[in-house]
Order: sequence, then C-alpha cells, then structure tokens
Amino acid sequence: MDMNTIEAVVPTTDPAQWRDGDAWLAGGTVLFSYGSYAFGPQPVKRLLDLGAAGWTAVTVTDDGIDLAATCTIAELYRLPESPDAAGLPWPALDLVRPCCDSFVASFKVWNMSTVGGNLCTALPAGPVISLCAGLDGVATILGPGGTSRSVSVTDFVTGDATNCLAPGELLRSVHLPASALSSRTAFRRLSLSNLGRSGVLLIGRLDGGTALVLTVTAATKRPVQLRFDTIPDADHLAAALEDAIPAALYHDDIHGLPAWRRDMTYRLAEEIRTELAAPEGTGAAGPTVSGDFWPPRSTPASGSTALPKGA
Ligand SMILES: Cc1cc2nc3c(=O)[nH]c(=O)nc-3n(C[C@H](O)[C@H](O)[C@H](O)COP(=O)(O)OP(=O)(O)OC[C@H]3O[C@@H](n4cnc5c(N)ncnc54)[C@H](O)[C@@H]3O)c2cc1C
Repeated sequence: MDMNTIEAVVPTTDPAQWRDGDAWLAGGTVLFSYGSYAFGPQPVKRLLDLGAAGWTAVTVTDDGIDLAATCTIAELYRLPESPDAAGLPWPALDLVRPCCDSFVASFKVWNMSTVGGNLCTALPAGPVISLCAGLDGVATILGPGGTSRSVSVTDFVTGDATNCLAPGELLRSVHLPASALSSRTAFRRLSLSNLGRSGVLLIGRLDGGTALVLTVTAATKRPVQLRFDTIPDADHLAAALEDAIPAALYHDDIHGLPAWRRDMTYRLAEEIRTELAAPEGTGAAGPTVSGDFWPPRSTPASGSTALPKGA
C-alpha cells in the first residue's frame, strides 16, 4: 500500500512531538495495509517511527513480566522458553503460545507486528489483547508533557477498533502481574474455518486457587471479564454471562455471526468452568485448543514457518 500523503518519517518516542496528522508507526502491518486515509478524517502526514525506540522487548522480574509496546509477536512467542522465564512458578506462561498461534499470522505479521500495535488496533480478534486481558495486564500510556497513566488492558480496548488513547498518547508497555502468572489457566478458541481468524477466545484463571476469572474476547467487540469468588455452578455462570454481555456486544463480521459467537461463548465458558473445577492434573496436559482444526504440533514450532498464511 502506498502512503503517498506522508511528508516525513520521524524516529521518536516522545509524545510531545506528536501533532495532528501523525500516526505512531510500530510494525506497520496495519498502517501499510490500510493506507493513509483509514485513521481519521484527515490523511496521515507523518509517521512517528518507534523502530529505534530501543526498548527491551521483555523484562522479567519477581513482580511479573513487562512487555514493551515494540515487542514483536515472534519475541513474545519465544518468552516461555527463554532463560529469563525458565523455571519460574508461573503456569500461566502456557497461554503465551496458544495466543500467539491464534494470530495464524503470515511471516511478515509474525516478525514485524507488535504487542502495542495489536492492542492499539483493537480488533476483537486481537490475540495479544486476549493474552494481556486474560492475565490482568496493565498498560502504561505516555502523554505529551511527560505524563504517564495506567489502564487495565480490559479497559484499554473500548470497542471494535477503538481504544482509550487520546490523540498523541503512546502505549509504552504492558505489565503482567506475577499473581496472575501464578494461576492455573484454561484456554479455549474457536474459528469458523481451518486457520481462520478467532471467532471466540476465552481464558479462564483460578486466582488464589479458588476464585475464577473468565475473560471473553473475539466473540465480543471488546474484552469482557467476569470474576467469581468461587467457581460458580453452570447456571450461575450462564446467568453471569447473560448479565455481562448484552446481545449488541457480540461481534458481527465475516468471521462469525453474533448468535453463533454467543452460543460458543456459553459452551466454551462451561468447558473452562468444568476444567478448572476438576483437580489439577486430571485434565489434558497443557492448554487445550478446542473446536477448531489445528493439527497437533509434533515439534516446537517457529510459528511463522509452521503455520500457513491464513489470517
Ligand atoms: C494478513 C494480515 C492478517 C492479520 N490478522 C490479524 C488477526 O488475526 N488479529 C489481529 O488482531 N490483527 C490482525 N492483523 C492486523 C495487524 O497485523 C495486527 O493487529 C498487528 O498486531 C498490528 O501491529 P503493528 O505493530 O504492525 O501495528 P502498526 O501497523 O504499526 O500500527 C497499528 C495502529 O496502532 C498504532 N500504534 C502502534 N503502536 C502504537 C503505540 N505503541 N502507541 C500508540 N499507538 C500505536 C498505529 O499508529 C496504528 O494506528 C492482520 C494483518 C494482516 C496484514
């Protein structure tokens, strides 16, 4: 896609440099696909290039994991087997790869697109949104004048392709807290077609061993999170979903009708409830991917080469 309205590309991470007609440039997989006129009433005139930010992609501390906005999907995929993460008592790291795989990404998207770009694009099927919302991620946002604020990832995405950023604000990083990373999790994803875009993606988490946190993404226009002090029974869970997700909040596009997304949300939520209610170790080893047609992986995958382009 030619962006023939661009007058300058400015390497910067300083929100004070932002002015009308600017767009932050991360991996460029959306900007260069959608073109100059897709991001507001005026065409994009300058790209503020984050490519030279030099931010460490992944930082692991006792408090949790910080993902820089410029961390690529390929870098995120390597995290669970990195020396920094090896041996940590964080079973929720098992979610990283199924979420990355939910991209079903081309080589370009896998290696260029970023955590920040995925969150800011705010598609319902944003797999990094699913991961970070499911793990109670908190986004750090930089503003002009040296300001900084924090927003939960669940609130960062406000609708289909909308987010909470004010003009000029820059997403700096996402913090995944150790408390969430320590929890037992369950993952379910469903797509209408083999290697298709996610139509429903649910993550369940057992907080403190007893409290259930259920995060619904892809089915809905924005993430929806339900919290229960103890694991509810099936009727209670269904009633809570009914309360939390009005019909209009189910997403409607070529990747799934709202009625189907709603039915599958209830079904996968019940599967997660059952899995997490059972004693640990009695279910499948590792997160199960249900309802679609992914072949089992026999070897550690590189993602970009193992999966054909299909998103
Ligand atoms: C073939 C193909 C398939 C795709 N499939 C999917 C899919 O299944 N699911 C999905 O979610 N997306 C999908 N995408 C869209 C896109 O690739 C991803 O959302 C990707 O993660 C965007 O990241 P990026 O770094 O390339 O963003 P960019 O293109 O660089 O930026 C995207 C938007 O975010 C803004 N932005 C980027 N970083 C920041 C920041 N740090 N702070 C503030 N604003 C920022 C930019 O200004 C721009 O408006 C697909 C794209 C292609 C081309």
